[in-house]
Parts: sequence; structure tokens; C-alpha cells
Amino acid sequence: MPLYEYYCESCNGIFEAIREMREASIAVPCPECDRDGERIMSSFNAFTFRDGYPRRIPDKGTYWHMGQEVKKRATRMKGWEHPELAKPKPKPRATKGESRAQRDKRLAALREARYRDRWGIDKDGFPTVKDGFPTVKTKAPEKEKKVLPAG
Ligand SMILES: [Zn+2]
Repeated sequence: MPLYEYYCESCNGIFEAIREMREASIAVPCPECDRDGERIMSSFNAFTFRDGYPRRIPDKGTYWHMGQEVKKRATRMKGWEHPELAKPKPKPRATKGESRAQRDKRLAALREARYRDRWGIDKDGFPTVKDGFPTVKTKAPEKEKKVLPAG
């Protein structure tokens, strides 16, 4: 049976569960707080590159600019500002889609943290555990013996 990922909103945690494929979309009780955890679709953080821009899968026809979703690719930009993102008007209120996007963002951060934790690396990709970690160490190249010239 395949392994699926679930997200528990009440304790903001991700957990995995092995389920039958046909039961995968049914909420699974969170191991921490026993509340229902929603299935995380695997497409949630899947990206592809098109026209050199990262695009989410399934492709909604949108583009990503500095980590934000935009409808059109910027043809003219003031600095790094995308016309669609520049000067944000006072937000009317987070729509359902927006709060979902925020949740996705939170999830992405969580996942990344979990990934780093799993592999023992910090945000720059360096190992956080220096000793007692079974890494294959490459031998430092032997130093050339310098022969001092006589005299
Ligand atoms: Zn929970």
C-alpha cells in the first residue's frame, strides 16, 4: 500500500500514513492530537519549468514571480517588482484561495524543515551533525612534500 502525507491543521503538523489507494483521500486521525488530518496532494509542491519559469503542476497557466503567483509574465519590471504585485492595494480580505495559498506556504516551510531535519542539513545544505554521522569522508589530498632546496 502506498504512503500518503497528511496535514493536521490544529497542530500544524505533517504525518504519513499507509493507506489503500481508494482510501487515500479520507481524513486520517493525527497521531499527535487525534484530529482529522487532511491529505496533502503530491502535486502540492510539484514544479516544472517552462519558459525558464517555475510553474506549479498541475499547470494552472500561472507564473511565479519571487515566490508569488502571477497571471502573466512580467515584460517590464521596475526593479524586481512584477506589475501585478507592485503596490499592493489594501487587501479586501483573504479569500479562500489566498488563505489556502498561505497554508501552502506554511506547509512548504514545514516540509523543508522536516526534510532538513531528516537529512541533517541546515538551510544552506551543510550537515548539522558533525560527529557520529555516517558520512563518507573523502580523503584530503596528500600534501606535497616540499623539498627545500639545499643551501
Ligand atoms: Zn494534530
